[in-house]
Amino acid sequence: MTGRTHDAAALTALGLSVVFFGIPSVTLATALVAILANQIGGIAPDIDQPTAPFWRNLPIGGFFGRFTDKLLGGHRFLTHSLIGAGLLAWLANWLLIFLQPIMPHVDIHLVWLAFVIGLISHLIMDSFTKEGVPWLLPIPIKLGIPPIKALRVTTGKVLENFVIFPGLILINIALCAHYYPQIVAFIHTRLGG
Ligand SMILES: [Zn+2]
Repeated sequence: MTGRTHDAAALTALGLSVVFFGIPSVTLATALVAILANQIGGIAPDIDQPTAPFWRNLPIGGFFGRFTDKLLGGHRFLTHSLIGAGLLAWLANWLLIFLQPIMPHVDIHLVWLAFVIGLISHLIMDSFTKEGVPWLLPIPIKLGIPPIKALRVTTGKVLENFVIFPGLILINIALCAHYYPQIVAFIHTRLGG
């Protein structure tokens, strides 16, 4: 899947988690940083791809992208597995502990959770593509949904661009519309209005 589909999927997964578990009692800072972390988590597994959005936005990202591509075993390898996801989640946890002193109003546990939700949504979305995902590394089998490859999506093609991506955007719009009073109330109380 492309970067924008992953970002939309990560946000959808975060939104559905909030619907399922309820709006947590958090500061506005936590909510904003959690959304940012969720978006980073949503594209993080693609650091193994030299042309990934993750690297494109950095000045010398192309160089690092090629380097990590070799280091992580090429595209759709380590970072697209449960072991790799665990490793990324562990690194994110340490980074958040390190950053906590400069963001005292942020609940880093919830931010971490939002990152992990984005991360898992990435692996699930890539499972719908023809390439599949090596979920169970070191067992080198790429799994997909559905199991029959011919029925899966080709990255960046019609089905993704005109059905999946707009579909995810529509889900997010519907969620925002449905929970609009709660969202407004949340922002009001946080801004002291
Ligand atoms: Zn990917």
